[in-house]
Amino acid sequence: MDFSLTPEERQIRDTVRSFIEKEVMPLEPEVLRNEREGRPGLAPDVLRDLRAKARKSGFWGINTPEEYGGAALGPIMSAIIAMETGRTFVPFTFGGSADNILYAGTDEQKQRYLIPTIEGERRSCFAITEPGAGSDARNIRTRATRDGGEWIINGEKTFITGGSEADFVMVFAVTEPYGVTCFLVDRDMGWTSDPIPTMGQWGPASLVFEDVRVPEENILGELGKGFELAMQWIGQGRYMIPARAIGAAERMLGMAIEYAKIRKSMGQTISNYQAIQWMIADSQVEIESAKWLTLYAAWRVREGMDARHASSIAKLNGAVMANQVVDRVLQIHGGMGYTKELPIERWYRELRLLRIFEGTDEIQRRTIARNLIKGHARLGLIGE
Ligand SMILES: Cc1cc2nc3c(=O)[nH]c(=O)nc-3n(C[C@H](O)[C@H](O)[C@H](O)COP(=O)(O)OP(=O)(O)OC[C@H]3O[C@@H](n4cnc5c(N)ncnc54)[C@H](O)[C@@H]3O)c2cc1C
Repeated sequence: MDFSLTPEERQIRDTVRSFIEKEVMPLEPEVLRNEREGRPGLAPDVLRDLRAKARKSGFWGINTPEEYGGAALGPIMSAIIAMETGRTFVPFTFGGSADNILYAGTDEQKQRYLIPTIEGERRSCFAITEPGAGSDARNIRTRATRDGGEWIINGEKTFITGGSEADFVMVFAVTEPYGVTCFLVDRDMGWTSDPIPTMGQWGPASLVFEDVRVPEENILGELGKGFELAMQWIGQGRYMIPARAIGAAERMLGMAIEYAKIRKSMGQTISNYQAIQWMIADSQVEIESAKWLTLYAAWRVREGMDARHASSIAKLNGAVMANQVVDRVLQIHGGMGYTKELPIERWYRELRLLRIFEGTDEIQRRTIARNLIKGHARLGLIGE
C-alpha cells in the first residue's frame, strides 16, 4: 500500500500551495472588510484576474477533460487541490470547470451551455430543492407539461447556490407520466430569482417558474431520467466537500497552536494546559481521519469503483470534523475567537452549512446504515 504522491503530484500540490499563499491569502483582509460592509467578498473582476493568472500557470479546468482544454488531473489531485484552496476563506476556485451533467448534453447543448460554462462566459445553477422537498427530493412538485414542441414549467425552487447570478439553470421537474426530467433553462426564458440571506456567505436564491416555455431540445439527457442526473451531480461533489473543509481545519488548527504558544493565563502559556492540548490533539486526529477517508473515496472514483458509500462516509465525517475543529479553535482563542477581527467566526458560520447541503448528516447516516443493512456495503474490506 503506497500513500506517497508521485513527484509530479507533489509538484502540483506545492505550486497550488504557493499560488494560494502568494496570490490569494493576501486578499483575506479585503474579503473580511468587503463582507463586513455588505459587499461580495471578492469583486467579480478580482476573481476573473486571479483565475486568469492561475490559468497562465496551468491551473485551469482541474478536472475537465483534455479535449475541452482542461488539465484532467483526476479525482485524487482534485481533492488535494481543494484541500489547498480550502486553506483560505477567500471564495476562490480555479476556473475552467463545468457541472458534470452538462457533459450528458447533445452537441448543440454542449456548444450553448457546457463550453461557455467552462470558459467562464456563462454561469449555471443546479435546482432540485423546493420549499416542500429537500432531503425528500423525490417529492418535488415543479411540473413541466408538453405543449406542441415546447414544455411549460411551473413551480418554485429554493436554496439554489448561484441562483442570483446564474444565466441558466439545470432545473428538475416532474413530467407525467415519464418521471422527473432535467431542463436547461436560460434566464431570459422567464424564470426569476430572489436572494435568500443566510448565516454564511453562500448567498443562495429562490427561483420561480411561472408558465416558463422551454423548447423540447432543452431537455438534458433523456425524458424521465432526470433523477439519475441529479444524483450524478450530487454524487460527484460529495468527496470534494470534506476536501475543502480539511484545508480550512488544518489552517485554523495551525492558528490555534500559534495562539496557544503566545497567550498567557495564570502565569503560563495556555499551550501548557492539558485542556488546550487535548483540543489540539483531538483536532489533528479528526483532520487526519477525514483526509484519508476523503482520499479513499476519491481513489474509488478514480478506479471506476462504486464510490457512493465511501463518499457518504467521507462527507459525514468531514462535515462533523470541520464543525468540531472550528469550535475548538474558537474556544482556544477565547473572546478573540468570537470577534470579527479574526476569520474564525466567519469560518464557523460558513462550515455549518456542510452538515446540511448535498445530503444532511442524517441523510448520510441513513444511506450508510441502509447500505450495510441491505448488504450493498460490507464490513471488513480493505482496498476493495
Ligand atoms: C446555503 C445552501 C445552499 C444550497 N444549495 C443548493 C443548490 O444549489 N441546489 C439545490 O437543489 N439545493 C441546494 N440546497 C438545499 C439543500 O440541499 C437542502 O437544504 C438539504 O438537502 C436539506 O433539505 P431541507 O432544507 O428541506 O431540510 P429537510 O429535508 O426538511 O430536513 C429537516 C431535518 O430533518 C432531517 N431529515 C429529513 N429527512 C430525514 C430522514 N428520512 N431521516 C432522518 N432525518 C431526516 C434532516 O436531516 C434535517 O435535520 C442548499 C441549501 C443551503 C442552505
